[in-house]
Amino acid sequence: MTGRRRPVLPLAVAAVLIGSLALGGWLLGRARPAGAQAVGYVLPKPPVIWMPSPNFVQRPPGERIDTIIIHDTESPGVKMAQTIARYFDDPASGVAAHYVIGKDGEIVQCVHDAAEANQAGISMFRGRDHVNAFSIGIELVNSQSGHDPFTAAQYRSLGRLVAYLVTRYDIPLDRIVGHHDVSMHPQIKRDPASNFSWQRFFDQVEADLASAPLASR
Ligand SMILES: [Zn+2]
Repeated sequence: MTGRRRPVLPLAVAAVLIGSLALGGWLLGRARPAGAQAVGYVLPKPPVIWMPSPNFVQRPPGERIDTIIIHDTESPGVKMAQTIARYFDDPASGVAAHYVIGKDGEIVQCVHDAAEANQAGISMFRGRDHVNAFSIGIELVNSQSGHDPFTAAQYRSLGRLVAYLVTRYDIPLDRIVGHHDVSMHPQIKRDPASNFSWQRFFDQVEADLASAPLASR
């Protein structure tokens, strides 16, 4: 997507995280940033509202979750995550993401992490197709116009949710990407919109990872 400022983030964040964690004595000698096995703790899951969707299947046996896909909903005028979740609840729509984050920051969960949500469509990431099998999808309510702001509450909730998922499943930060990055139809799937700030998002994730209470480490 043109105009998107994609930071050279994973390495930068990895450097900061590894540096700070090593200082704290929590790094267990692995080169990977922010993973549960690397840092030895799992952040608490932020509160979610459950609105289950039927549009999922079981993941392939033994499949590991190691990727997060960020979407926006391309829904002009919609503000609430629950509005999108009702669409995902319709078998006729055939689609769902694991999580939807509304303009007010409310997080609605529609599919269990353990299941495969029909979110990325025909897709490929680093040589593997069918990204749904190994990813978790998060939708941000947004019109996708490029001018509709992603709210501070959305960045906060997204950061907390992703920080939790990163520690829960040991997901490398450089495997958090946009739908546009994995879709085999990138001219159609352009999300997240060009005004989504990857820098602000990863800054939030980093802050959340760094703010884990000592008791949970
Ligand atoms: Zn999408």
